[in-house]
Amino acid sequence: MPLAPRLPAPPETLAVLEESYDRVLRRDPGEPEFHQAVHEVLESLGPVLAARPGLATAKLVERVIEPERQIMFRVPWQDDKGEIHVNRGFRVEFNGALGPYKGGLRFHPTVNLGIVKFLGFEQIFKNALTGLGIGGGKGGSDFDPHGRSDEEVMRFCQSFMTELYRHVGEHTDVPAGDIGVGGREIGYLFGQYRRVTNRWEAGMLTGKGALWGGSAGRTEATGYGNVMFTHEMLRRRGEDLDGRQIVVSGSGNVAIYTVEKAQQLGANVITVSDSGGYVVDEKGIDLDLLKHVKEVDRGRVSDYADMRGASARFVPGGRVWDVPADIALPSATQNELDAEAARILVRNGVKAVSEGANMPTTPEAVHIFQDAGVAFGPGKAANAGGVAVSALEMRQNASRAAWSFSRVEEELSAIMTNIHDTCYETAERYGAPGDYVVGANIAGFERVAEAMLAQGLI
Ligand code: GLU
Repeated sequence: MPLAPRLPAPPETLAVLEESYDRVLRRDPGEPEFHQAVHEVLESLGPVLAARPGLATAKLVERVIEPERQIMFRVPWQDDKGEIHVNRGFRVEFNGALGPYKGGLRFHPTVNLGIVKFLGFEQIFKNALTGLGIGGGKGGSDFDPHGRSDEEVMRFCQSFMTELYRHVGEHTDVPAGDIGVGGREIGYLFGQYRRVTNRWEAGMLTGKGALWGGSAGRTEATGYGNVMFTHEMLRRRGEDLDGRQIVVSGSGNVAIYTVEKAQQLGANVITVSDSGGYVVDEKGIDLDLLKHVKEVDRGRVSDYADMRGASARFVPGGRVWDVPADIALPSATQNELDAEAARILVRNGVKAVSEGANMPTTPEAVHIFQDAGVAFGPGKAANAGGVAVSALEMRQNASRAAWSFSRVEEELSAIMTNIHDTCYETAERYGAPGDYVVGANIAGFERVAEAMLAQGLI
């Protein structure tokens, strides 16, 4: 796909961006998600480079799209029957100009180097937007925790950390959770790190349990943060969430706490989903039941529908985007909301779309929303609440403190408002009012570029 710059810029500037993108296509073949993430950022950067020729001379674009370091390793482990499995582990330390590399670990069968690079690349700008002094990284494995016993998951995590420990640390690289990595996995990973290093180094991993260095509110943070961001977008338009009908996709940690915060603010959330299909619940999602099914039973959304009774219907293989709603909050995975779905949502009168997942909306779908005047919150801004509270967890660990839930929630709310306003004002400054994609990309890039320039050619 050729670059289609979102903002006007002189031809020589656009040529720099084109060349950088072509280089990625040439040198990193077979990584379509990484190409997509780079493409999306470069399309916004024209006027920044034009205003500051020093950035082009310092080859800032070429440097920012090249990871500082990529680690790939073998992860052998034994299942409960004694059979040996060999998975692949990854950690991409993408950019450390603003602080230690920071970003989650994803355990999912679709994980490969291109996926980890797209996530790591997004994470650079997302983390920059938080203003909390964290660089960008990401990791994971093609291991599938679904259907595995706790013992199998533990053995896998121990094997994974037995290699990863040499690359991470509180001042180096601080992993956390992502899809397939929650409290249970973080516990096993932290335990193995402590065992092999003989160090109590709480700040080397975030998303820990409350008793051993975790932050209150980390589990809720991504979903809560996305709803707070959506609320800010609506407020700018003189609207709010009260009484709004919302469709949420996914049923993991992000989706569950998106439902919780949206309900607290008076909205009616009527869907959740998983890879088997979706549930539409006309009375509104019963949060206690959903938490029980997902967090206690580790079940499926079809189980929720079975237990919920008449108001809920399970639609096998379907997509939540077919259900009419005022607001859509994609909270499952990349490229889950395509052009066809976007057209349906627009036709049904959607007012705002905000990304709880990373890159869930395809580029075509983003354009359809923006052309239709729908408020669109890109993930690197809208879902930054998770990593922001991770940074607050690191802060608490550094001072051996434990903040209350309400203090964390207050700080999160201030951070999300700040990210929203930064994106909004940056877009306005560059002549694209209301375009949060441009605002997030430029504001994130400016911060990273500034730090990289100051630190010289490294
Ligand atoms: N995986 C989350 C994200 O996509 C959180 C990362 C973290 O807390 O470090 O931002």
